Amino acid sequence: MKRNIFILVFIILLSACSTVPFTGRKQSKMLPAAEMNAMALESYGTFLKENKLSSNKNQVALLQTVGNKIKTAVEKHLSTQGQQKKIEGYKWKFNLIENPSVNVWAMPGGKIIFYTGIMDVCQDETGIAVVMSHEIAHIIASHGNERMSQALFAQFGGVALNVLIKEKPQETKNIYNTVFGTGTQFGVMLPYSRTHEYEADKMGLIFMAMAGYDPLAAPDFWLRMDENNTGQLPLEFLSTHPSHESRIYAMMEFMPTALTYMKK
Ligand SMILES: [Zn+2]
Repeated sequence: MKRNIFILVFIILLSACSTVPFTGRKQSKMLPAAEMNAMALESYGTFLKENKLSSNKNQVALLQTVGNKIKTAVEKHLSTQGQQKKIEGYKWKFNLIENPSVNVWAMPGGKIIFYTGIMDVCQDETGIAVVMSHEIAHIIASHGNERMSQALFAQFGGVALNVLIKEKPQETKNIYNTVFGTGTQFGVMLPYSRTHEYEADKMGLIFMAMAGYDPLAAPDFWLRMDENNTGQLPLEFLSTHPSHESRIYAMMEFMPTALTYMKK
């Protein structure tokens, strides 16, 4: 009996293990993507109802142009690699809300929100591409799913999490709200781990190159973030997590690899 349970757990763990595209990092992702995307869709809709969309048509159009360019390049690449299943059912949405915070966030299934405060640091189309590709990277790498799986694991243990979603929908939702900051203070997400941040930075450089943007604009953006640091916490990019300096260093180290993806 014990042996059977052991084998069952092993099978569950094995089937739940997947690989991050572009970096090859193994991740134990246990939640079905469809469930994640459904929760994201719901809270994204709520957020848009409760917040003011930017009326700056030029900025909104630019944001959507950049988002579409990058996601198209990434989709094309994934499909040539036979990995289009990774983004099956994704519905990309890029929106700008009227809010002076230097903030941005991404949710599973392709939902991204920029705050008008970060547009000043972006400065232009390429600057927007730096932030956009980083956020798209969090989504493509399923960082949200991984974080939520870890949180569920911590609370309920690892076995049969997909059953847990059905049997404890409210608890699952609460954990989603904590991880994605969709509770009382929207947009204050649990910070990503260093692993996730560095990974999103690297993948972001690749995505920029694939979409025809110069990845060297990314370290420039981080220098501007540094200058802009007025003591206000740039929420997604918690300044200590990792430090801007370490990020820039890691990006420069990865730059030669990123440049090999440059659009021909
Ligand atoms: Zn990030």
